[in-house]
Amino acid sequence: MKKTPLRTCIVCREKKEKRKLIRIVRDKENQTVFFDKTGKANGRGAYICGSDKCIEALGNVKMINNILNVNVKKEDMENVKEDIKKYLKEEVLN
Ligand SMILES: [Zn+2]
Repeated sequence: MKKTPLRTCIVCREKKEKRKLIRIVRDKENQTVFFDKTGKANGRGAYICGSDKCIEALGNVKMINNILNVNVKKEDMENVKEDIKKYLKEEVLN
């Protein structure tokens, strides 16, 4: 049996299959965080599970800065949230 890689959602701490999670990645140079659509971007990443609650929690800049050791701005995280929501909506439609 093939082992499926599991990752933990940084918000709710639930373990899920890697491919079912959303990856966000730290951009150390620009002190920001972005949504990694491909799941392959370089940099330190973190996973969230895609529930509404966990996506909303990305607006908690203090938490994100702690986890990723970065100094991201509130607006940046709002953008990440919007990107993820848009992406999930498209996924559902396709
Ligand atoms: Zn979660």
